[in-house]
Amino acid sequence: MNYLYDLWDDFISLLFPRLCYACGNHLLRNERLICTHCYISIPRTNYHLTADNPVEQLFWGRCQICKASAFSFYNKGSRIRKLIHNLKYKGIREVGYELGRIYGQSLKNSGFTADVDLIIPVPLHPSKQRKRGFNQSEYISKGLAETTGLQLELKSLERIALSDTQTKRSRYERWMNVEGIFAVTDSEKLKGKHILLVDDVITTGSTLEACAGELLKIENVKVSVTALAVAVQ
Ligand SMILES: [Zn+2]
Repeated sequence: MNYLYDLWDDFISLLFPRLCYACGNHLLRNERLICTHCYISIPRTNYHLTADNPVEQLFWGRCQICKASAFSFYNKGSRIRKLIHNLKYKGIREVGYELGRIYGQSLKNSGFTADVDLIIPVPLHPSKQRKRGFNQSEYISKGLAETTGLQLELKSLERIALSDTQTKRSRYERWMNVEGIFAVTDSEKLKGKHILLVDDVITTGSTLEACAGELLKIENVKVSVTALAVAVQ
């Protein structure tokens, strides 16, 4: 019976091949979305194990971030880049969810999330979310929430303005550009909480800085940040 089932399974995968979203090779029966080779080759930062790590340093003198980490380095041609591309531009939401689950397990095991109360994904502007159909950071956050056991909060922070690309701006211009982009809609719910903000990729850190800036206006709030990848400057 098992043999027949396996045969049927092989037949189905001939018609609908299951391919790795990082390298495009065929997946084995026990692999999900990412093949084992790609899974072990993701260049992890392990910043969640290191105080004063480079992601934390990115926010020094800008805003009061409790802890900061990123799952992987966002190198050119790297597997994580391909995976995030599939998530954001090809709409493969499960990739975000799966990577969130994987990273959430590491965060939980290391104690990084032990004193965190809530997970909030960086919101997209409603018009952008309509266009894309979903918020990639929300799917990463769903995975993180699943393995850390933390509550996901999707309604208390909103993006109220569209911002353009920020890579070529000075720090002051970037700050001007992000100030007033986000708004807290339910500060009562967030009062006294330690919030883990989640983004897909950290580059300049200014988006997270703008989000954190809004959240930190709430009484007794603590903010930590994390992302699937950090761009190496
Ligand atoms: Zn692969």
